[in-house]
Amino acid sequence: MNIREFCENLQNIYDEMWRTFSEYQKGTGLHCLEGCGKCCNNPEVEASVIEMLPLALRMYDEGKLEFWFEQLESTTQDHCLMYQPHSPDGSLGQCGVYKERPSLCRMFGVSGFYNKHREITLSVCKLIREKYPELTQENEKLVTEEKTPMLVTWSYRLAQLDPALIQDRMPINEAFKKALEKVALYAQYQENP
Ligand code: SF4
Ligand code: SF4
Repeated sequence: MNIREFCENLQNIYDEMWRTFSEYQKGTGLHCLEGCGKCCNNPEVEASVIEMLPLALRMYDEGKLEFWFEQLESTTQDHCLMYQPHSPDGSLGQCGVYKERPSLCRMFGVSGFYNKHREITLSVCKLIREKYPELTQENEKLVTEEKTPMLVTWSYRLAQLDPALIQDRMPINEAFKKALEKVALYAQYQENP
């Protein structure tokens, strides 16, 4: 795999996802609460290794591979190390790697999905749902495959680039560490032969 070319293609999908999901949030009014970072403070955020390659490659280009290896090896933190909390309980804060964050982080707030009865349904983060109950109900009635960014559509787009993007997800810090290892190996053999 040519990691640079792969990361460029993946970053293009990430940028398109960002536009699609943020336009939907703006258009419906179902946007994240100001300053909120509660989902990033959750140890259950997962990513595949290759979803983290764009971030790992940037860290390599910036000469920060060693820094991140040390951080990841010495931490006891089980939620994402890239999270920058702004409140003591960690519920307020921001992503430190917004441009390269993996797909789950882009789709978590509001997205469409098929439930077990194969009906299109709107998945809305609990905090957004509680803050905007009427808007949530209204938009639940309007959900369609054409108008709503669908989990399945974006998973398919990612899988077309590489099926491994949506397989073997693991805790995000572990995925990041493995992505750094891949980039370190790539740099050793491909870029410095
Ligand atoms: S990558 Fe960014 S958005 Fe995703 S969990 Fe970490 S801090 Fe949050
Ligand atoms: S998705 Fe929900 S928990 Fe996450 S930042 Fe948005 S409002 Fe907060």
